[in-house]
Amino acid sequence: MTTRLLEKTATTNPSRLKALQGSLDRALRSDGYRRKLAIDSAEEIAGIDDFRRLPFLTKDDLRRHSPFGLCCADEREIVRVHSTSGTTGDPVVIPYTAGDVETFTTLMARALTLAGMTDGDRAMVTPGYGLWTAGIGFQAGVERIGACAIPTGPIAMEMQMAFLRKMAPTFLIGTASMALLLGETIAREGIRPCLKGAVLGAEQWGEGRRAVIEDLLGARTYDIYGMTETYGPGIAIECPHQQGLHYWDDLFHFEVIDPVTGDVLPEGETGELVITTLVKEGLPLIRYRTRDLASILPGPCPCGSPYPRISRIAGRSDDMITYRGVNLFPSAIEALIAETDGLGSEFRIVLTTEGGKDCLDIEVERSCDGGDGPARELARKMKMTLSALPRVTLLPPQGLGREMKKTRRVYDHRTK
Ligand SMILES: [Zn+2]
Repeated sequence: MTTRLLEKTATTNPSRLKALQGSLDRALRSDGYRRKLAIDSAEEIAGIDDFRRLPFLTKDDLRRHSPFGLCCADEREIVRVHSTSGTTGDPVVIPYTAGDVETFTTLMARALTLAGMTDGDRAMVTPGYGLWTAGIGFQAGVERIGACAIPTGPIAMEMQMAFLRKMAPTFLIGTASMALLLGETIAREGIRPCLKGAVLGAEQWGEGRRAVIEDLLGARTYDIYGMTETYGPGIAIECPHQQGLHYWDDLFHFEVIDPVTGDVLPEGETGELVITTLVKEGLPLIRYRTRDLASILPGPCPCGSPYPRISRIAGRSDDMITYRGVNLFPSAIEALIAETDGLGSEFRIVLTTEGGKDCLDIEVERSCDGGDGPARELARKMKMTLSALPRVTLLPPQGLGREMKKTRRVYDHRTK
């Protein structure tokens, strides 16, 4: 069972070019896509260089054509829609055929199998159900493996704890924020859960937070990646080696581009991840700009998996803060916090205007009692490596609020 779920699908075309042409053929069924791509036939794309000249698809394109302007299936073939959360504008509705629902289930089962889930496991599925794609997608993957889904969804923490005690799940599925909150609650109540894995996604979380969560839960964590536009989460996941996320190259074509010039970057270089789906039917993606920053990792993984890897997501291109002419990513600040003794994993970045000047404050939780040495150390590191000198305020452990879904790191109150 396990081996079969990890196999590349038999339907894959023999070559990358053929697979890309297959997806282009599908896309060209839509008038909207034909106008966008400005080609009449997939045969016009005779090599990877031709493919790289095709225009990028953006979230704005999807929004403009939502719900069915780029749909490449007959309306009767659409069996379900999901929607993006709308955190960065109007929600985008994504149509799914029965084939898409099946592919989503297969890839999710493959992801969870790579994270070690078997038919003997019980998985608490805490992401939202309904319009959001995660809850139902994870549940379908858990069931396909033959494991037991406990579909709590995002209910209150007391209820989550009741199910944790009663059902003894071996896997937790949710956001890193949810896992942190659950872990701290477990520690406070003195419970010893029998979790062996936590599959966490939907937000960017660094190695510092990983260490705290793994310690609190007593379980290995697996970073999982995906978005509504690409079926949902599960298109890439870490294996137990935690050295990047394996992605399914029989179902997707990944490129990394320079976000400014649009040029394709070589393996190992960080840029914006661009995704083309190879078998998606309802709304195939051709060169979709995800805004997520990552690199394609060279070489094989120690686990021996035939699936290639991307790095963990280093942030979103639209997360970038410009402070006194310096470009900063919250993930870079998070990494410095993780390597500073005496600091916890939780922090927030506050930007204000004082006397006509930008000010940068970092509020960060301590991991233990002590003086203000860690604050001075963090300020020094930020000045040295990021060329930005912040004011650092230390807060007691758990001094910042906790979120169940995604944690907001940046509060920009500057006068525009
Ligand atoms: Zn691996």
